[in-house]
Amino acid sequence: MFCANEPMKRVLILMSKTGGGHLASAQAIQATFAAHYGDEVEATIVDLLMDYLPWPMREAPKSYGWIANRTPWLWGTLYRAGHTSWLTDPIIGATVRLSATSIMEMFVHYRPDLIVSVHPLVQELALHALERLRADIPYAIVVTDLATIHPLWFDPQATRCFVASETAFQAGLKAGMSADQLRLFGLPVRPIFAQPTRPRLELRHELGMDPNLPAVLLVGGGDGIGRVAVIARAIGKRLAVRGVPVGQMVIVCGRNRRLQTTLSNEQWRIPVQVQGFVSNMSDWMAASDCIVTKAGPGTIAESLIRGLPILLSGYIPGQEEGNVPYVVENEVGVFASEPAAIASQVARWFGPDRSELQRMSENAKRLANPHSTENIVAELASLIDL
Ligand code: UDP
Repeated sequence: MFCANEPMKRVLILMSKTGGGHLASAQAIQATFAAHYGDEVEATIVDLLMDYLPWPMREAPKSYGWIANRTPWLWGTLYRAGHTSWLTDPIIGATVRLSATSIMEMFVHYRPDLIVSVHPLVQELALHALERLRADIPYAIVVTDLATIHPLWFDPQATRCFVASETAFQAGLKAGMSADQLRLFGLPVRPIFAQPTRPRLELRHELGMDPNLPAVLLVGGGDGIGRVAVIARAIGKRLAVRGVPVGQMVIVCGRNRRLQTTLSNEQWRIPVQVQGFVSNMSDWMAASDCIVTKAGPGTIAESLIRGLPILLSGYIPGQEEGNVPYVVENEVGVFASEPAAIASQVARWFGPDRSELQRMSENAKRLANPHSTENIVAELASLIDL
């Protein structure tokens, strides 16, 4: 059924659009394959859960964003329940049985030479279908969480498993993977993050920023979630000292249009830019002095590469929880959830604690993995003799 001697290799990347991170990682891997292997590789991204699960199971991933954002406590409970095998085994077992035929047909359709998973919930489904097809295709897992890793990510049947932190490596060993299967290369980030940046003054000029004032970048992930508006107002107030701005702020609202409109219509005492979803995050980061963000793994990994000290303002219970100690213990940032405390911390970093900001920036660059995606893709390519 699978023809081994075709010149172009087919890579199938399995993900699902629960949050923005899985798709972003899949696209980073796809783009890096294209940049390094051109026509030798065709990398295709597939949403296994939304497009290949039977109804009503395929509807479940759609509620992730809503639950995680509006009722984080409920998401935390569901996440922890996923560690309990007596609870999850029957559900996963039924899903595996009901979806086997459509997933097998999908594999027959794409005829992959290599399968790469960037989602914790696809391993059992995909590996079961491959077993039934008796197809011996290398299967790699790229873990897109940073420090809290759900056991469902790991499967000892996988050929390789790429992780982004020592904690994740240990979690892999605990879940039955061998050290030979695991690689600690860092989180897959977009190829632009592997490039050096242009000079800050040039970027600030192009982005319409003040050339001299220290800048705080405020983001709430791809969907602009969390208390971005209240935090923005607190920072805006605190960075105006007796009416004189001691800093500037860039607010990235992501896909949250309502937030963007609200903040665009406000009066600010300091220079402020309100952006929607930006496609040049690398530039905004390189032009700023620190970032205020929820504990999203993608944003943390990118900030480290750009040497941005990180003020974590919150986290999604479950998969983002461990990112807080990761940032704090590596001394690349701090955690503060109250808007007034966040604003005071930024003011201190732009004033008396400037040297701490500098030290954290250097720590961040040391901890960063700008070439993680290139390293992951090079090893993936070696699995298909490229
Ligand atoms: N991002 C972006 N433009 C925006 C907002 C976010 O490119 O306007 C990117 C950000 O750089 C990161 C990803 O979206 O790569 C967000 O991933 P993260 O893991 O931090 O959070 P998520 O949105 O998945 O919860």
